[in-house]
Amino acid sequence: MGDTDQLDNPIVLDIAAYTLTEYVAAKTLESNLEVVFTDAKQSKPCAQPDYDEKLKFPFVRDNYKPTAVHIIDAQELVSADAATETKRVVELTLDLTPLAELNYDPGDTLAVLPCNNSNVVAKLLQRLNLTEQADITCYVRLVPNCTKKTAKVPVYVPTSATPREIFTFYLNLHGVPQKQFLSALANCTSDVKERAFLNSLSAKQGVAHYQSLILERGLCLMQLLDICGSCMPTLALLVEHLPRLLPRPYSIANSPLEYTKQLRIIYSILDKKPGVTTSMLDVKLSLVKEQQVANLFVYPRTQNSFRFTAAELPGNQILIAVGTALAPFLGFLAHKELSESKSTGQTWLYVGAKTPQAVLKQQQLSHWEATSVLQRLRVCYSRTSTGDEPKYVQDLLEKDAAELVDLLQQPSTVMYICADGAKISKSIEETVRGCLQRVLQLDERAALEKIKELRSLGKYREDIWL
Ligand SMILES: Cc1cc2nc3c(=O)[nH]c(=O)nc-3n(C[C@H](O)[C@H](O)[C@H](O)COP(=O)(O)OP(=O)(O)OC[C@H]3O[C@@H](n4cnc5c(N)ncnc54)[C@H](O)[C@@H]3O)c2cc1C
Repeated sequence: MGDTDQLDNPIVLDIAAYTLTEYVAAKTLESNLEVVFTDAKQSKPCAQPDYDEKLKFPFVRDNYKPTAVHIIDAQELVSADAATETKRVVELTLDLTPLAELNYDPGDTLAVLPCNNSNVVAKLLQRLNLTEQADITCYVRLVPNCTKKTAKVPVYVPTSATPREIFTFYLNLHGVPQKQFLSALANCTSDVKERAFLNSLSAKQGVAHYQSLILERGLCLMQLLDICGSCMPTLALLVEHLPRLLPRPYSIANSPLEYTKQLRIIYSILDKKPGVTTSMLDVKLSLVKEQQVANLFVYPRTQNSFRFTAAELPGNQILIAVGTALAPFLGFLAHKELSESKSTGQTWLYVGAKTPQAVLKQQQLSHWEATSVLQRLRVCYSRTSTGDEPKYVQDLLEKDAAELVDLLQQPSTVMYICADGAKISKSIEETVRGCLQRVLQLDERAALEKIKELRSLGKYREDIWL
């Protein structure tokens, strides 16, 4: 864990194997931006900025902006296990005091502002010969006599920042390089073979290589700079071509009835090649463990129908979750348990996990089952089930098909599905459709219509973690 995880080992690649003999390189665009350095060295290098009121953030709730909150506690809920590909899962408790008066419901999400790993940024600065200027304030502007009418400095790059800050907070260094970007990189590459390689990847004729190297193998800027040692893009070029580093959503994993000034989020992290935000969260986790101050920049996201409010509380809920995506339902169940108006509705929870150890908060789930917060708890394990035991949540749903459809048909029932992948959600939908078809004796088209109808009535609600 920690600050070095995102530094990949240098890639060894035979670029000749990916260089075409005949191709037409993507059209080179004129560079529209330039960076002007001031004389000012930042006294406090690379502090997270106070975000500009005017800068728009995706799905930000009205009257909120990114705000620093303190991480009060961090608990590891699940340990990583390479044999079963189980991801490590961590729960963070945040102090909500700075987000004054935040009202939220179970199911709501918080956006976390990521920052790129400090070692990755240092490596990039060094690679671009920018180490000496790394903490000098600069600004980005249009080149004099810029001919492109639509050219503009990206709004998310502040009018005054250092190169280190620009790479740390504003640019997605791990984004998928577009063909125009590859062509622009080729233009700042002096070695003939490396230039031909980058040009080939950007060419129409290089579609297959683009597919295999960029889209499938996931080569991004950092690896391309490793492979092409003579490629020397300017800071201005990277500002022009790299996408914005965007906030990531995390589900609130508790009920507002549990705390007034705190909130929990739960994240899973890949063992190999962890993502940008989860790596950053892990660095914060280390700080908390060392009892140092750890802050996160967050904002509440706009609410949608994937919520458990007073309106849904008296009714029935069918909750379906796979892996870490159980997180929002922990909030739903705590809410049902703690609500003053006791619900007599049925709550059924279906959970799919890799192993028994990978189920979040098992004891808490058993407690909710024992105290009738949950009327039905079904759990299955994809890596350890044997024989006829169900492996996937889809199997659990199939098994309960008749009762499930019966409950779903009741007017107050809402089915909530949360999964960390579009494929899983789609497969769950197919299973529910199959159950409806079988139990209600519908043909395929009528079953499709039924799901559509359930969606439009707000009885089938999904959260897809992409
Ligand atoms: C509405 C919504 C709610 C969400 N709630 C949660 C939540 O409560 N908890 C949570 O952990 N995530 C949640 N996510 C996903 C979360 O927003 C991030 O996408 C995830 O944590 C990875 O972010 P990253 O910046 O570390 O990865 P990136 O740098 O964006 O990673 C690049 C790619 O690596 C892969 N990847 C990285 N990390 C993981 C991982 N842990 N598991 C699988 N693939 C991974 C993905 O393919 C990803 O596209 C939610 C997403 C949405 C849309």
